Amino acid sequence: MVRDAARRSTESRFRLHSGKVPSVRHDLHPIDSTSPPNIVALQRIVGNHALVKLVRPNMPHLQRLPSLADFQEQTDTGGERVKITAVDDRLSTYHSLKYDPVDQKLEAIGRLREACELYLNYGDKQAKRKTGVRALMQTISKEVPLLEKLGEIQKLGKVMAAVRPYIELQDRVLKELPYGSSGFFSTHLSEAISFVVNDLRKEHTDELDEIAGEDLTRLENLLEDEKLPTVTRKVLNELLALKDDIYLKDFHKSGSHITGAIDEEKADGKKYVSEQKAFSDEGLGTPARLGSLTHELTHISVGESYDNTIGFLVFNKDLTVEAIVKLGQKRVAQVKRLLELLRKSRSLTEKQKTLIKGKLDYAMESKLGTYASSFSLGVTQSKGTKYEEGYRKAAEKFTQVKNAFPMGNSVLIEYDSVVNQTLVYLHTWGVPETSNFYKEIKKVAQEAYEDRAKARN
Ligand SMILES: [Zn+2]
Repeated sequence: MVRDAARRSTESRFRLHSGKVPSVRHDLHPIDSTSPPNIVALQRIVGNHALVKLVRPNMPHLQRLPSLADFQEQTDTGGERVKITAVDDRLSTYHSLKYDPVDQKLEAIGRLREACELYLNYGDKQAKRKTGVRALMQTISKEVPLLEKLGEIQKLGKVMAAVRPYIELQDRVLKELPYGSSGFFSTHLSEAISFVVNDLRKEHTDELDEIAGEDLTRLENLLEDEKLPTVTRKVLNELLALKDDIYLKDFHKSGSHITGAIDEEKADGKKYVSEQKAFSDEGLGTPARLGSLTHELTHISVGESYDNTIGFLVFNKDLTVEAIVKLGQKRVAQVKRLLELLRKSRSLTEKQKTLIKGKLDYAMESKLGTYASSFSLGVTQSKGTKYEEGYRKAAEKFTQVKNAFPMGNSVLIEYDSVVNQTLVYLHTWGVPETSNFYKEIKKVAQEAYEDRAKARN
């Protein structure tokens, strides 16, 4: 195996936080102790794409407990609310309680159920809101087991044994109680998992690496789905073919680079390190992590295919500057077309659109200049080391390209990664392949796939 340490690095950091407006931020981050500090360029999405509907759209949706206002609207008969006020009050109390500890919330939902039962015992003439109350009771019966599971996990405390159950529960919540309605619960779970994992990171790195590594298996499992689109299957096969060369490492944000000295021992001869969160802290669960993993694996495959600087540039290294600019312009136009189709799509929820739009916008930013500066700094700081040459080549190339193509040049590093990530989102969300946006993404992914294949040959 080739272990070219000078080719290491450039990371695409991909990070999501819940509860904020989508935004993109980049910063510098030393990737390991063998690098001079602050020299590694890194792009990072602090994305934050709030909550996304993670269930297949054609699945029946169970509603989470409605807010008091929604419930009152659902059970509005035009008359004064008299007998129903006990239900109203207890619903309001339920919502006012925190998830941690969950015991009080469980007690409150029990009392709410009692109030509903009492209401249903009234005669129909006295109680005209029974349909709405029955619907509420159904939702309660879905919510209770999730809360009970949370209670079990909370009792474990901040231990490794709690991590997998948290991940599992988060996915259940996202599936059973779709976005928007499940926001508070899944946000709570994200915070709770973060709280546990951050505490464990120092002493349980191996176990957390193992959990992060399980996402590779989950990604591989997608191949068993007969409904996986052909191009997605080809892409995943391409990416997963590299898995034995990748040390998947738990880290508080994601990124990929060639193995450096700090990871040498654990990487055990593997050429690349891909850093991934062992858990999803953005309230988006497993589909979000698999999308992020696909994004990172694509950077690595691009590195393998084009072998164009430590910055994983997505084009043949012998292209002329004119040809690079032309390619960049073509890609920008393509991303704009995708954005337009995304805007018009009726197969995606607004929240899914917001998430994908954040990625597509990111692919059209102008980050090459920032990278060029970072690589230049790398040259200065790694003088005389084996890393100097790699930084120099990247600094020169990035500078040359960004001067010729100042606006939108991120498409030269982030195109394939964002497209493949979107493929995985669309599949894991169960978006119909007939959607125009999906069709276009598949077409673009196929072209990018073929280009990488050609470059490898
Ligand atoms: Zn990236």
